[in-house]
Amino acid sequence: MANIVIIGTGYVGSVSGACLADFGNNVVCIDNNIEKIESLKKGIIPIYEPGLDAVVERNSRCGRLSFSMDLAAVLRDSSVVFIAVGTPPSDDGSADLVYVEEAARQVGRLITQYTVIVNKSTVPIGTGRKVYGWVKEELEKRGQNTGFDVVSNPEFLREGSAVYDFTHPDRVVIGSESERARNIMRDVYRSLYLNETPFIETNLESAEMIKYASNAFLAVKVTFINEIANLCEKTGANVRDVARAMGKDGRIGAKFLHPGPGYGGSCFPKDTRALVKIGRENDEIQNIVETTIKINEQQKLRAAKKVEAVLGSLAEKTLCVLGLSFKPNTDDMRESPSISICEYLSSRGAQLRVYDPAAMKEAKWRLAAIKNSVYFAADEYDAVKGSDALIIATEWNQFRNIDLARASKLLASPCFIDLRNIYKPEEVSSAGLRYFGIGIGIK
Ligand code: NAD
Repeated sequence: MANIVIIGTGYVGSVSGACLADFGNNVVCIDNNIEKIESLKKGIIPIYEPGLDAVVERNSRCGRLSFSMDLAAVLRDSSVVFIAVGTPPSDDGSADLVYVEEAARQVGRLITQYTVIVNKSTVPIGTGRKVYGWVKEELEKRGQNTGFDVVSNPEFLREGSAVYDFTHPDRVVIGSESERARNIMRDVYRSLYLNETPFIETNLESAEMIKYASNAFLAVKVTFINEIANLCEKTGANVRDVARAMGKDGRIGAKFLHPGPGYGGSCFPKDTRALVKIGRENDEIQNIVETTIKINEQQKLRAAKKVEAVLGSLAEKTLCVLGLSFKPNTDDMRESPSISICEYLSSRGAQLRVYDPAAMKEAKWRLAAIKNSVYFAADEYDAVKGSDALIIATEWNQFRNIDLARASKLLASPCFIDLRNIYKPEEVSSAGLRYFGIGIGIK
């Protein structure tokens, strides 16, 4: 089994490291954030990701998984280095490669034996070759000729089910032109190989493109059903029935056909923008994706304006917003639609009472710009107290089973705005509340 180093112990690096150790590899996860590493050494997981604590604990205990800040020391014994650092959006929409470059150069400055450098971060097409150049440059500065290969191995896990996704992937993509590196990668993923997970071996560029094309396609699918939902509202159709029937068509599939307040998160927004930038740089405009980005921004605003359409003037209104993370089962609020919604409602004069099962700490700084109009509630019922409407912004399981009679008594006015369509209108109405969902037309 391989001795692996992971550079970057965030959402992807921590899950990849823990799960690769679970596959039987020896893994050291590196981060330059001391608090993160110290916390992981004590078995405290700095992010909310269901099931990750057990995998970390199990593999740390048997010595296959450890955490360190000393890259030089751990590189001496390893032949595979994963780069899993962030690639946040730059002002022009392109992926900022500053962290990837720094990680690659660090590796080039330190390796002393043949190493496979695996790019797990989502990066623009052509980055693998840049990584090769950065490492080579650092080796040359040292007068070294150490052998190495670069592999692109994009990650498809979803936050909230990341451990399951990493250990049960639909496919593993390995982009490399080196047979030696491909063999080592098959070894790294031996457990999945034996389970007959499809392995798709490509060149570097195709692997990089697969990640962007997959995320962009899913963003388009979500946006498509959002637009259909908007049309349903005007025409008397019900998007729940429409999406359900569409999803039964094997050519379409049921996933990512749930209308809502627009997509968010750390991946779809930044990866679609990066793909658009790559398209423009190559004089191949990605019209569908460009339009998707525009519609998604409108959809977030549309969701916020729905509240205003229902309640009239928001000045002096108090609104309860449930769910702040960009999706359930994560504390990640990067580009969460809830931020745009809260900011809009606040700009119209509303006071907000917000609650999220995992993202309250995150919300305190993400909503800092409107902190004077936000009350951070202790739970969903505390948030509902005295509010003029209950708004479901993120579909956490615990919000699927709200005691509607209790909520109805706590609300100042009986208004229930379900931006994720998780309730049946009749169920809410029978508790004496007026129900407003997405894409449910009335004729
Ligand atoms: P993150 O911000 O949670 O984690 C990145 C980590 O890298 C941070 O802890 C940071 O301190 C560390 N880091 C940066 N430079 C470093 C260096 N030189 N040495 C050591 N540590 C360093 O990011 P993430 O969400 O894990 O995403 C990582 C990459 O994976 C991105 O390219 C992202 O697009 C991609 N990705 C993310 C997801 C997801 O769901 N989050 C899914 C698939 C792919």
